[in-house]
Amino acid sequence: MNKKFILKKITKNIFQINEPWNFEGCNIYLFKKNNNCLIFDTGLGLFSLRKFLKKLAIKNFLVALTHSHFDHIGGISDFKKNEFVVPKFIQKALHNRKNWCLKYLKKENFNQALLNKLTDKKAKQICNSFSLIIPNITPIKTNIISWFDYNFKIINLGGHSKDSCIYYEPKYKILISGDLLYNGKIYADCHSSNKKQFLRALNIISKLDFKIVLTGHNEIMNHRDALKIINKWLLILSKTN
Ligand SMILES: [Zn+2]
Repeated sequence: MNKKFILKKITKNIFQINEPWNFEGCNIYLFKKNNNCLIFDTGLGLFSLRKFLKKLAIKNFLVALTHSHFDHIGGISDFKKNEFVVPKFIQKALHNRKNWCLKYLKKENFNQALLNKLTDKKAKQICNSFSLIIPNITPIKTNIISWFDYNFKIINLGGHSKDSCIYYEPKYKILISGDLLYNGKIYADCHSSNKKQFLRALNIISKLDFKIVLTGHNEIMNHRDALKIINKWLLILSKTN
């Protein structure tokens, strides 16, 4: 079994990919049709996501991003500039290292025992040497990513970071929430976080008609569980505001 990445099936066409050696690693989502894929976020990039996807017989890649934090964009160097479907506000944010929010890249978040089986690099070294080659991406001009019969609306909400966005697919009632919603600790104090915007973002999300949330971290959620987390996070935000 390839422990560099773990693949979990969600539906016939949708998969979640995790980096098991990184406790704080983001969820990568793979939408797959035949040889084609659309992925949301790219993980830390320590190992080649592209190679892993190629082993799944994927030949055509499209890459979308929820925001420019290191744990979501680390794998972008693996992809070609014309493989990105990224709006301008994220494309711009990628070029400023401050937006990567590296203060949260900590060696304690790595499973060193598992890492030892995969690489000679130590967690400390990985954290200290994190860097990216940013592909020369041309941002997309629309606010919709159309891929086969999916149409993802890109909604830039800010809050967690200025460039945080969600992807909403109204026909299949899918929400890809990035770090704006998941079952875990809320991060509203990163570089370019904005608590007022975060409150507004959660209120907007709560009004969307979705069945499933593909979250930036931890387990995916149904609508009912998502509303519970929204209420919990709204309470936290209103207390700290
Ligand atoms: Zn983040």
